[in-house]
Amino acid sequence: MARMPRVTLPSGETVELPEGEPIGSILPPDAIAARVGDGLVDLAWVPDADVSAQPVSTSDPDGLYILRHSTAHVMAQAVCELYPGAKYAIGPPIEDGFYYDFDLPEPLTPEDLPRIERKMRGIVQQNQTFVREVLDRGEALRRFEDQPFKKEIIESVEADEGALGDRVSVYRNDGWADLCLGPHVPATSRLGAFKLTSVAGAYWRGDEKRPQLQRIYGTAWPTQEELDDYLHRLEEAERRDHRKLGQQLDLFSSPDELGPGLWIWHPRGGVFRKELEDYVRDLHLDRGYELVVTPHIARSVLWETSGHLAKYAENMYPPMHDEHTDYYVKPMNCPFHVLVYKSRTRSYRELPIRLAELGTIYRHERLGTLHGLMRIRGGTQDDSHIICTPGQLIDEILRVFDLTFEIHRTFGFTDPVVNLSTLPGQTILEPEMAQRATDALKTALDRSGLEWTEAEGEGTFYGPKVDFHFRDAIGRLWQLTTVQCDFALPERFGMEYMGEDNQRHRPVMIHRAILGTLERFSAVLIEHYAGAFPLWLAPEQVRVVPVADRHAEDAGRLAERIRERGLRVGVDASRETVPKKVRAAEVMRIPYTLVMGDKEIEAGTVSVRGREGKEVRGVPFDEFLEKVAAERESRSLEPSSF
Ligand SMILES: [Zn+2]
Ligand SMILES: [Zn+2]
Repeated sequence: MARMPRVTLPSGETVELPEGEPIGSILPPDAIAARVGDGLVDLAWVPDADVSAQPVSTSDPDGLYILRHSTAHVMAQAVCELYPGAKYAIGPPIEDGFYYDFDLPEPLTPEDLPRIERKMRGIVQQNQTFVREVLDRGEALRRFEDQPFKKEIIESVEADEGALGDRVSVYRNDGWADLCLGPHVPATSRLGAFKLTSVAGAYWRGDEKRPQLQRIYGTAWPTQEELDDYLHRLEEAERRDHRKLGQQLDLFSSPDELGPGLWIWHPRGGVFRKELEDYVRDLHLDRGYELVVTPHIARSVLWETSGHLAKYAENMYPPMHDEHTDYYVKPMNCPFHVLVYKSRTRSYRELPIRLAELGTIYRHERLGTLHGLMRIRGGTQDDSHIICTPGQLIDEILRVFDLTFEIHRTFGFTDPVVNLSTLPGQTILEPEMAQRATDALKTALDRSGLEWTEAEGEGTFYGPKVDFHFRDAIGRLWQLTTVQCDFALPERFGMEYMGEDNQRHRPVMIHRAILGTLERFSAVLIEHYAGAFPLWLAPEQVRVVPVADRHAEDAGRLAERIRERGLRVGVDASRETVPKKVRAAEVMRIPYTLVMGDKEIEAGTVSVRGREGKEVRGVPFDEFLEKVAAERESRSLEPSSF
């Protein structure tokens, strides 16, 4: 008789499992699956040899995935019970939830979702066990006889869809079964809180020549509280959507005539951009950067030398030709900054050279990936290239980190999540150079004291990079800053400096953008602040509202004094009622609205209304002016109190 298998638990403790006992019998009650080696297994899995096992609960990302996957099964089961004749296709977990595709006898509407949810809850209540079965192909084809999509999957036997060589694994609960590798929660009562969120059309296999199916999306979480939080975040995200606010605040638009992914900034957006750009440019000058200006297009030879045509052409707009050569619109600023560096012989004494530009770039991103100002085809980066000696590299990277913190703190972004991304498959780098670049970034990260993690293969084609992700007001992480270390372009462009030894040496190059594109950063700011910018960024900082026509002149004089103090001010002299004017200012998220009537004019005071609706009467005008001017100067994130 075989010896009982021994299971080593994360604590180091080893437990003997009686023969035929499932692994779940020795795991804690919150486990929904187990990790054995590199794989995940059901709690019902029975080991036949010694193993190490780790419990997987829903607080584990893999556990959450299993939870969502299992919820997708139960949804498909509910749909099949409610719509006899339903054909089910596939239904994977996705970020925050899951979907499932169906061919149904009737079209679904969002109104059908609660009925499906109720059916799902019924299945949960019955606590049906998920049972794994391994069938041979013939049996499986018979089992799914009336399910053409499943038959097609079985016939194509793809390893990731339930195939084990010539056998297929199936999960069954009650009478309903699906092709699937698993694992699953042990029984339907172990599902968490879920909600079906939308219906959409989708093609079988994503192929528009194949049948169109109906896709139901849902979200699933371990607890009701987490589900509620998620739904609240969705609602908040919608309320903060920069595309909607951009229109409401009259900041920018993307008319059809421009082409997808290209945007125009209106006057209110223009002044916001000016504030942002002035801040960034001035700070760079203060921190030892020098400003350069470069054109938008260059001859193809530049892009050949840089490697862009070999490794990046698919992201570039097609070339323009004149009688001599092809010209390309720039997808990056780097090669131009290299040319600035190379405009004369450089000595080690000049290094580091930090070249900065708000450089406008164009990338031919795929149409389907464009999204408002978040994903665009034309945008302006706060792009800089630092060219230094290898010995200066670490200090320069650390300086970039410091500047990153300083800039983001100004907007209220702190506590970044930091990743080091190593090289992708497509690279122009020799392995030895790649290693040096990665080592330099690692050394700098370690010296900075930051916590960081490594993400393999997500670097750029000319070097590894460090990414800084910051969390916005509703907890979403945005990748904002990238710092790249590059030994390749200096080599390709033959960049040199004269060393102390009077010999020619190769410098190193750091590429870095702290805000990324100003367009995307603006979108993040709009959503972060829900359109209520800190005073210094607000397109209109103060609005004066005269109560009646006879107050208009005084209102104008007051506005003039505010303008003289360097603030942006508007006067609403329309014939609307005061509440309507106040409301209009709130809709535009104007930080301060001053209502001016007889009493205020007589007393030399103002009635100050913040955009959150709080009103303070009788504020001496000079006090208002000084406080607001100071708030602007300090780029405060907090409104003044009166
Ligand atoms: Zn499954
Ligand atoms: Zn660059």
